[in-house]
Amino acid sequence: MTTTTLIKNGVVIDTEPEPVVLGRADVRVEDGVIAEVGPDLPGVPGAEVIDATGRIVLPGFVDTHRHTWQAAIRAVAPDVDFPGYMRRIVGELSVRYRPEDVHIGNLAGALECLDTGVTTLLDWSHIQRSPDHTDAAVLALRESGVRAVFGYCHGGDTAGLAGATRRVRELLPDASGLVTMALAARGPEIAGEEHALAEWRLAEELGLPVTSHLGHSPDGAGAGLTFLESNGLLAVPTTFVHALHYTDEEFKRIAGSGGSVSLAPVDEMNLAMGYPATGRARAAGVPTGLGADTVVCAPGDMFSLMRTIHLLERGRPDGAGLGFTTRDALRMATIEGAEVLGMSDVIGSLRPGKQADLVLLRTDALGMSAAHDPIGAVVLNADTASVDTVLVAGRVVKRGGQLLHHDLATILTTLADSAAAVVGT
Ligand SMILES: [Zn+2]
Repeated sequence: MTTTTLIKNGVVIDTEPEPVVLGRADVRVEDGVIAEVGPDLPGVPGAEVIDATGRIVLPGFVDTHRHTWQAAIRAVAPDVDFPGYMRRIVGELSVRYRPEDVHIGNLAGALECLDTGVTTLLDWSHIQRSPDHTDAAVLALRESGVRAVFGYCHGGDTAGLAGATRRVRELLPDASGLVTMALAARGPEIAGEEHALAEWRLAEELGLPVTSHLGHSPDGAGAGLTFLESNGLLAVPTTFVHALHYTDEEFKRIAGSGGSVSLAPVDEMNLAMGYPATGRARAAGVPTGLGADTVVCAPGDMFSLMRTIHLLERGRPDGAGLGFTTRDALRMATIEGAEVLGMSDVIGSLRPGKQADLVLLRTDALGMSAAHDPIGAVVLNADTASVDTVLVAGRVVKRGGQLLHHDLATILTTLADSAAAVVGT
C-alpha cells in the first residue's frame, strides 16, 4: 500500500535548474518520493496532511563538508589561525577521543543538521583511531536519521590503508541507502604524493568518490592538482575542499575533470586560510557547495553559511562579485551541493521522482513576516528558529519545531560528559 503525505498551502521554492518561487502550492509525497508539486492538489484518502500555511517549503539543505565528530568541542577554539587549529584540535584533543566520544559527537552533530534543515551531510571523518571509532561513527549516522555520505579518512600509514578502507566498504556497500560512503583522502598536499596515489587508486578500485582538502595553501595548490592530473587520478569523482588558491585556468582544469568544490566560508576566513573563490570556481563551471566544516570555530547551520558566502562574494575586493545573488547562495546550499556529492539525480530539488527531503520554514514570526522575496528571506532573514518541519525520504524527523525520534535530554547530557572527558573542566 502506498503511503502518501500531502503538504498543503505552503509558499514553495524549487531549486532546479535555478531557485524559483513557485508561489502557493502543495507537495505530494508517495513512499518517501516526491510525486507532484502544484496548486490545489486533490486530497488522497488516508494521506497524512501537513498544513504549511505560513510556511516556506523548500528542498532540504546539503552540507558538503563537515567534521561531524567535533560537536562536543564546539567553540573550543573560536579565535585561532590554521596552525593554532591544528595544534589544539588535531594535536591535543582528537587523540583523547574514545569510540563513545565519536558516537555521541556524530549523533549530536547529525541531529544538529536535521534540527536546522540540513537533510544531507558529507561527514568528513578523520577520527578513525581504531575500528571501534569507525563503527561508532557509522552507527551514529544511521541512528540519527540524516541522509549522509560517510567520508572515511584513514589516519594511519599507507600500508594499512587498503585493508581498513575495505572493511568500511563492507559496512557500507549500498550506494542507494540513507548512509553511503566516500573516501576522505588526506591528499598530496597533506600526506604526500605516494600516499595520495594509494588513496585515489583504492577509491577507483572500490567505486568510491573522493573528498580531499586541496588547494588550501598557496604553496602546494598547483603542484597538487598537476600531480592528480598527471597520474590520471581525476577520473575518480573528486571534491576539492576549500580550493582557495587556484588560478582561473586551474579551476577550468578542475571543471574539465568533472571535479567539484566545497567551500567553508566562515572558518576559511576565521582561520585566515584565504578568501573563498566562489565566483571564480562557479564561472569556470565547477559545481560549488557549502560546508560547515567545523563547529570548533564556525557555526553549524546553513543559514550562516549562505549569508556569509553571499556577503563575501558580493563584497569581493576586486568588485567583481555583485552579480552573485541570494538565488546563487540558495542554489549552492541545495541542488549545487547535491551535484558536488554526485547525488543531484536523487536530492537537491523538488523534481518528481526525487527523494522527499524537505524543509518547512516559519514566516509567521517576527523577523520573517512580510517576506516579499521568499528566496531573499531564506538567505538573509531565516535562522535556525525558523525551521518548523523537516522530512528525510518522506519521514518526518522534525515537526512543529520539535525534533522527533530521539531523547534530546539524554543526548545532551551524554554530550556534556564527553566534552568534559575530552576537553576537561
Ligand atoms: Zn575540513
